[in-house]
Amino acid sequence: SREIHLASRPSGTPVPDDFRMVEVDLPDPGPGEVLVRNTVMSVDPYMRGRMNDVKSYVPPFALDRPLDGGAVGEVVASGDDSVPVGATVLHQAGWREHALLPAAAVRVVDVSRVPASAYLGVLGMTGLTAYVGLTRIAQLKQGDTVFVSGAAGAVGSVAGQLARLLGAGKVIGSAGSAEKVAWLTGELGFDAAFDYHDGPVARQLKEHAPVDVYFDNVGGDHLEGAIFHMNDFGRIAACGAIATYDAEAPTPGPRNLMMVVSKRLTLRGFIVSDHADAAKEFFTQAGGWLADGSLVHRETFVDGLDRAVEAFLGLGTGQNTGKMLVRLG
Ligand code: NDP
Repeated sequence: SREIHLASRPSGTPVPDDFRMVEVDLPDPGPGEVLVRNTVMSVDPYMRGRMNDVKSYVPPFALDRPLDGGAVGEVVASGDDSVPVGATVLHQAGWREHALLPAAAVRVVDVSRVPASAYLGVLGMTGLTAYVGLTRIAQLKQGDTVFVSGAAGAVGSVAGQLARLLGAGKVIGSAGSAEKVAWLTGELGFDAAFDYHDGPVARQLKEHAPVDVYFDNVGGDHLEGAIFHMNDFGRIAACGAIATYDAEAPTPGPRNLMMVVSKRLTLRGFIVSDHADAAKEFFTQAGGWLADGSLVHRETFVDGLDRAVEAFLGLGTGQNTGKMLVRLG
């Protein structure tokens, strides 16, 4: 079986040589353990931060050890009655074809109504991020005008739709191509969207301003542009800043940060794992919306562990629409 190791810590944008494919022997599960054949694994922007040797909310990846991350798979051997052979499970041992895990480290998921991959996206960590950011962090109110950056990605595409379902008056999105913009205003029902390559964010957002809630996935010029067009007492959910993840030195903050004062804005960061207690209410609501078609999701699949690094690097160049996933075996 094969797994991908971190071979060196990237400086700037990672390159394929920072990773290494390694062949390993397949052990049999001992008592209380399960052997899982992974079928789909997630690649996520936060993994870039874990490639640096710095203290953060999750420990860094170790060199010459397998990377990890969300994955789903099928139990092929089991030393624990509660997780039988054939069960589909969600766990954190991605980046490998097979995973040997304590039974307590996997969650059996129901695949009778949604494919297993949904638990890595819309019904998983990224969906919950969108929900928590809007409800708990930005405290979305009826009629709010909401701006979402990275709007055609995994978190952003769910955030924009949830904003509408939770009562926003107007939803605006930004993304990196004309096709993505058309998807946002078409199938996803955003009121307006723009390609950030077509001109400065501040100028393009002006047409749709003012904004009550900004869901920030990008940082940089997007954050600065949004601050310019926030209403007084607006709320910014600082979810991520993908525009800066490959920077080799800290990037300057928004030049208009003083507007946080003059407009009495709230800018609040969050990490989804602090909000696991919101998972149940979210999955119940989102499950219903998925079933009745009011919530749409898309997945971009890359095939094979050999292409997992390519899939991860593709996040930085916008190769995905919706959730980026790697299909294994
Ligand atoms: P996405 O599916 O959104 O994939 C990343 C997307 O970012 C790409 O498709 C690309 O789309 C866009 N992008 C890449 N580089 C840039 C750039 N320089 N400027 C603008 N857009 C860029 O990933 P996720 O939905 O998984 O994550 C979205 C954000 O949410 C990230 O910042 C991530 O770190 C954050 N996050 C935060 C969590 C939390 O707990 N706070 C949890 C999960 C995610 P395009 O073609 O539009 O450029």
